[in-house]
This record gives sequence, C-alpha cells and structure tokens, in this order.
Amino acid sequence: MIPPIANRFVAGETERDVITHARVLDTEGINSICNLLGEHYDSPEPAAADRESYCALIEAIGEEDIDATVSIKPSQLGLGIAEGCFRSNLELVVERAAEQEVFLWIDMEDHETTDATLDAYTHHVEEYDGIGVCVQANLKRTPDDLRRLADYPGKVRLVKGAYDEPGDVAYREKSRVNEAYRECLEIMFAEFDGGIAVGSHDPAMIDDAEELHDEHGTAFEIQMLMGVREDAQHDLAADHEVYQYIPYGDSWLSYFYRRMMERRENLLFGLRALVGG
Ligand code: FAD
Repeated sequence: MIPPIANRFVAGETERDVITHARVLDTEGINSICNLLGEHYDSPEPAAADRESYCALIEAIGEEDIDATVSIKPSQLGLGIAEGCFRSNLELVVERAAEQEVFLWIDMEDHETTDATLDAYTHHVEEYDGIGVCVQANLKRTPDDLRRLADYPGKVRLVKGAYDEPGDVAYREKSRVNEAYRECLEIMFAEFDGGIAVGSHDPAMIDDAEELHDEHGTAFEIQMLMGVREDAQHDLAADHEVYQYIPYGDSWLSYFYRRMMERRENLLFGLRALVGG
C-alpha cells in the first residue's frame, strides 16, 4: 500500500489504481500516459512479468472510453539482458497495442541504449503508427536523430534528459541544455508533419513551442508528470492537448525518492506531509 505522502507522484500499486486516476483526469480534459514502474532487470523473468502486465494494462485501457496511452522503459522489457529479449517482449506489447488501438510510448534511458531504442522504434512504427519515442535534448546527437525521425510516422517526445551523461556525448550545463532543447524544437516544428510532444514542465520551453506552432502551424501536445505543475496542466488543457505521465506499481519508492530530491519545493512538500502540516 502506497503511503499518502507518495500519492502525489504515483497513482497506486495496481492497474486498477492507474485506470481510476486516468478516468478522473479524462473528466478534467487531460489525457494519460500510464507507466508501470520498473527498470534495469538482470534476468528475463521480471522483464517477461512486466511485458504481461503491460499487455493486461493495454487490454484494460482498450475497454475504457478514455484517451489513455502507455509508456514502457526498454530496460524493463529486457534491453541489456540477453540478445533478443527486449525485441521479443516489445514485439508482443506492440502487437497488443495495435490490436487494441492503444498508443504506445517508448521512454529513453541512458545514452548507451539510444541506438537500440531508436532502432526498435523505427522498426515497429512502419507497421503500427500508434507508437512514439522519447529523445533527450541534452544528448549532442539528438538534432541528427530528429532529422532522421522526421521521415517516420508516429510521435516523438522531446525531454531535457534525466540521466547523468558524460561530457563527450551530452551537454551538462543547464543553460546549454535549455538552448539545445530550443534548437531541437526548431528542427521538429520545421521538419515534422505533426506528432510533436513537448515533455517539459518549463514554462519557457512551452512558450517556445507555442511560438514555433504559430510560425509553422505544426500541431503539438504537452506532456508533464503526475504531481508536477498540475495547476498548469489544467490551465494548458484549455488550449492544448495535455497528457499526464502517471507512474504506478510496487517499485514506487525509488521513483518517489527521485521526485523528492530533484526540487527543494518537492522535498518541503514531503517533509510537511511527514510532520502532518
Ligand atoms: P526543469 O529544467 O527541471 O525545470 C525548468 C523549470 O520548469 C523550472 O525552473 C520551473 O519553472 C518549472 N518546474 C520544473 N519542475 C517543477 C516543479 N516540480 N514545480 C514547479 N515548477 C517546476 N527523461 C528521460 O531521460 N527519458 C524519458 O523517457 C523521459 N520521459 C519523460 C516524460 C515526461 C512526460 C516528462 C515530463 C519528463 C520525462 N523525462 C524523461 C524527464 C526529463 O528528461 C527531465 O528530467 C524533467 O522533465 C525535468 O526537466 P523539465 O524540462 O521539466 O524542466
């Protein structure tokens, strides 16, 4: 059972919890991206278990009349475990998503997984265009990746990048990452026909996307995490398509800890909740 303190960032431990949360959001005009927490397994069994959980989640979403999507992490489905493990697990999840017409996102992990993740995306998106992949503005390679991805159907989520990457492959200064994010947005709005997802809580990045939309006319959606700037999510939903990324599952503790530590105000929220304030 998830303690009330973590409920701000995580929907609960079960598929039912995430669907209940998605239903409420749907009534408020916000769409969902459901993510079962879990990553970096070192044997095929937990990856197969998560594959089955995702297939069940996709079927459950297929029975709902809400705009809910799913996001998986490659290492959770076996990337880096054994040759072919990720490919075969992803294949089954994509098949189920295509059957149920549920949109499937592929999160991006550290830079050593970028090639394998993009290869898997480009392989599957030609057959089922209800797939999207995340790319990270902090990686120096991303402008080239975006120009290549512009030729594919599907969607691309641009984020700043959550992994502590070495300086030879990534920008490490916050201001340089912000600059890179803007450069990537420019490429997307100029070269994509649509399918742009702005995965950021940063008002400056969202303003940039709005300006680029006015200039190029390309459609875009905004994606933010559960528990972060939720008031802004509701305000933005009046004029934009907004998706909330909703984690759930029993591995919630490390995710909750990361959210607590990334910003002073999150930590204060946690401490206040602990002392009952
Ligand atoms: P930051 O640079 O963290 O903050 C910029 C500004 O945003 C702040 O100055 C403030 O004005 C505002 N802000 C940010 N957080 C808060 C807050 N808690 N409260 C109030 N204001 C706030 N990373 C990956 O590497 N791979 C992924 O697959 C991935 N998927 C993601 C999916 C979604 C939907 C989102 C939103 C993020 C994802 N990320 C992913 C994480 C991402 O890379 C960043 O680490 C994270 O979003 C923080 O960057 P930011 O753009 O939100 O802004």
